[in-house]
Amino acid sequence: MRYFLLILVVAMGQSVLTAEKIPSDAQNRKKVKSFTLAVLPDTQFYCDTRLKLSKKWGNGDLRRFFFEQTRWVRDNQKRLNIAFLVHEGDIVQADAHEEWAIAKKAMSVLDGKVPYCMCLGNHDMGFKKSDNKYGGDIAVNRTTLFNKYFPREKFAKRKEFGGTFNPDRHDNSWYHFEATGMKFLIVSLECKPRNEVLVWANKVVAKHPEHRVIVLTHAYMSANGRRIDKLGYKIKGNAGEEMWQKLVSKHKNIFMVLCGHSSGEAVLTSKGDHGNQVHQVLSDYQHLNNGGESWLRYMVFDPNENKIKVYTYNPALDKFRNNPSSRFDLEYPMIKGE
Ligand SMILES: [Zn+2]
Repeated sequence: MRYFLLILVVAMGQSVLTAEKIPSDAQNRKKVKSFTLAVLPDTQFYCDTRLKLSKKWGNGDLRRFFFEQTRWVRDNQKRLNIAFLVHEGDIVQADAHEEWAIAKKAMSVLDGKVPYCMCLGNHDMGFKKSDNKYGGDIAVNRTTLFNKYFPREKFAKRKEFGGTFNPDRHDNSWYHFEATGMKFLIVSLECKPRNEVLVWANKVVAKHPEHRVIVLTHAYMSANGRRIDKLGYKIKGNAGEEMWQKLVSKHKNIFMVLCGHSSGEAVLTSKGDHGNQVHQVLSDYQHLNNGGESWLRYMVFDPNENKIKVYTYNPALDKFRNNPSSRFDLEYPMIKGE
């Protein structure tokens, strides 16, 4: 009997302690709805009906996988409460009209349904014909047909549109949205962003201290989980480590960087100058069968657990990748301070 009583007292003591430990804001957490950010990694092979560098996997026409992605995001917008979609760049193979026409058609599936923004990859700009096995070089300069197919004027009408670095071009842009009472801002930067672009991005972020900021840029880190120190190509600008030093680490409201370019998956969580955690997340499936055959990411922001739950899903195959580098949670405080 005495033994039983002791257990009872210990058990009661624990439950009292647990109740006291729950912070007051957590009591209401059940009421908060989660929302989702959809992420499209490199789609270059899906658009490559011209050079057909994708023919090693078949006939060189993989465009249906791009459409599988955007249709799935559109059709699951309500179920997952998808608030926004980002494209991590290398939208097309080599900056050609034929390729951009495919990208435009595939992305337009989202128009009026899911807001989105895109960043430019090394394949999206500066194509110069030559006799090499790729039919030319890429990123020899910053000319791109992106602005013809995704013009600033079209996107400036959208309520999520914030602004651009250049008043006539859409290459560097910022967007914003609100979800479950929180304000988010995405700053989308060109591949190997120039110093003046980073100066602009610093200003945009500093002007929005109430927003939670995601930096979207194509080439930032390698699959080994390290920020890129040196990036090739003729264009001049900053690699991942320089972007960290000159922009990302400086702002307490930047909590995530999303990038593609390097085949594979990686996460690097670093501490910014203000002690804030910054999750830098790479996903790129272009090396997989059929240039990725529609593998994409979606990130469920769950304020009840203060976690971002990252899923890697293939709508064409209706399959998940569940290895630890593909399915993981990121700690991110959402309730506190709201
Ligand atoms: Zn790339």
